Amino acid sequence: MPQGSLRELYIDELRDLYSAETQLVKALPKMAKAASHAQLRQAFEEHLRQTSEQVSRLEQIFEALDEKPSGKKCLGMEGLVKEGAETMREKYANEVKDAAVIGAAQRVEHYEIAAYGTVREIARLLGEDDHVSLLEQSLGEEKQADEKLTQLAQEINPQAEAGTEQESEEEIGRPQGPRKNSRRAA
Ligand code: FE
Ligand code: ZN
Ligand code: FE
Repeated sequence: MPQGSLRELYIDELRDLYSAETQLVKALPKMAKAASHAQLRQAFEEHLRQTSEQVSRLEQIFEALDEKPSGKKCLGMEGLVKEGAETMREKYANEVKDAAVIGAAQRVEHYEIAAYGTVREIARLLGEDDHVSLLEQSLGEEKQADEKLTQLAQEINPQAEAGTEQESEEEIGRPQGPRKNSRRAA
């Protein structure tokens, strides 16, 4: 492979994406655990399954290229995951925490959408049609996941607002205790 070529960039970008996806395989169960809303938790569990398939698709591409997928760490994803973990440590009420987790997850999806768009375009130019269709499947899943999160935000954020406004009124003259509207399963 000629040094400094577009093909070399293609492989570097794919390795970055592979690192990003494998980091997510570890992070998504933690995000699911942090979610109180049942549908949000399910959305993370579903996306974890898709993420494992996305890892397999990238492995298929590396196999076809006769290259190994390892060797690069995606620092962008590392940062997004760290920031998400930081958000989850804040002492927000459950619904508010859900809104925060959705924000972190949507940042991840947008990052992946950008990365898959980039490699898909390079693959197209290089005439790697099989790769294009594999990358497009993953790109479509990321876009769907993002849309699903927007829908969930539209449902959960008003609950976060209503729940915490009510609580601050109730807090007057009431000792701090577990929230009665808590959605967290016992
Ligand atoms: Fe992904
Ligand atoms: Zn990266
Ligand atoms: Fe994703």
